[in-house]
Amino acid sequence: MGEIKSIDALEVLDSRGNPTLAVSVLLTSGVKGTATVPSGASVGSKEARELRDEDPDRFNGRGVIKARENVLSKIAPVLTGLSVIDQTTIDEAMISLDGTNDKSDLGANAILGVSLATAHAAAIEKNMPLYRHIAELIGFGELTLPVPMCNVLNGGAHANNNLAIQEFMIIPAGFSSFHEAIRCAVEIFQQLKLDLDHKGYSTAVGDEGGFAIDLDSDRAAIELLCEAIGKTNYELERDVWLGLDCAASEFHISPSGYQLTDSSEPLAPHKWLEVLIDLTNNYPAILSIEDGMDEAAISDWQLLTKQLGSTKQLVGDDLFVTDKLLLTKGIKEKWANSILVKPNQIGTLSETLEVIKLAKKHQFTTVISHRSGETEDTSIADIAVGTRAGQIKTGSLSRSERVAKYNRLLQIEQEIGARQFKGLNEFRQL
Ligand code: PGA
Ligand code: ZN
Repeated sequence: MGEIKSIDALEVLDSRGNPTLAVSVLLTSGVKGTATVPSGASVGSKEARELRDEDPDRFNGRGVIKARENVLSKIAPVLTGLSVIDQTTIDEAMISLDGTNDKSDLGANAILGVSLATAHAAAIEKNMPLYRHIAELIGFGELTLPVPMCNVLNGGAHANNNLAIQEFMIIPAGFSSFHEAIRCAVEIFQQLKLDLDHKGYSTAVGDEGGFAIDLDSDRAAIELLCEAIGKTNYELERDVWLGLDCAASEFHISPSGYQLTDSSEPLAPHKWLEVLIDLTNNYPAILSIEDGMDEAAISDWQLLTKQLGSTKQLVGDDLFVTDKLLLTKGIKEKWANSILVKPNQIGTLSETLEVIKLAKKHQFTTVISHRSGETEDTSIADIAVGTRAGQIKTGSLSRSERVAKYNRLLQIEQEIGARQFKGLNEFRQL
């Protein structure tokens, strides 16, 4: 069942207008599964490597013709004849064909494109939605709808403004359905837009669809959010909470510390930790902090986890790069209590599922995530549901490549029922 007949790949565009790969896996039954690969901007140094052509005459060197060629002439011959039902065999065949630790030979973009397209083809072949196929692959019983973490104010590497923190998120966890949660997020987003307009700020949006304005400090961004929420029918800590992705590696200056917009000198780690503790004291609605420390500063992370880990979700993104070995160490040495899961950081679906399994076994919360460069591909919505991840981070409530994931989740909710939305309970494993 589900024998691969051929694999095709095409150079298409992502939401920043950069080339990326769309891969199609065709089965002997005539079934075709297709997936398109995302791409990050604040990339962790230990991520699997996407292969770019580096040819300055095409797309400023960002073309993916070499990755496409690898799919057609190296990966396809090895996978032809295998069954797409066995995702692990397919992924392991590509990992061994690549032979590097970071998938830099074939390219993580080439490998992930094939891996995800395989899963799509398998689901169609089994006559079931992708989320059900993924649930069977990971072997967890129940399906759940994730709580969205919506990045409505963009800073850092995602906007050309002066905010150090990359993402200011609203987390509508106080509802009993996904559609009510997303409606809350949209209404707050619209109120924020009105407020920004009245205050004379631009309402242009950044890479992930959030507003990208110049402010004096990161605290001012949180204030704006709280003010907007206060004008809606929703209440902080009843309906909606806040989340930050500091992406601290981006403003960490080794060895001196963390360079914020509103301070002249980099802050030593303990001073930066004080800023974070202060923020959570002043804004108790902050429920989740991602990449609060530099990816290489393990002792800073351990300090953060010691201080805030019993009350806040501390998410490792660049810290763990969806890597099972790093997560194993992080669990043992108490680096954090939650992991961001980005399939393209590790490069195959099987490895992504393994990481989620490990996290759940050790009561780490899991947040499935998009990349800042995205496409209309909605695979991560199905991954979030099928793995019972609990949370999803897929940008703001604008830009179709972000909204596509929310729309997919709305469809899934209609299929599996709103009872599968667990809201705030997804955060209570802390
Ligand atoms: P990236 O950002 O896709 O640019 O890495 C997303 C994130 O840091 O969570
Ligand atoms: Zn991040």
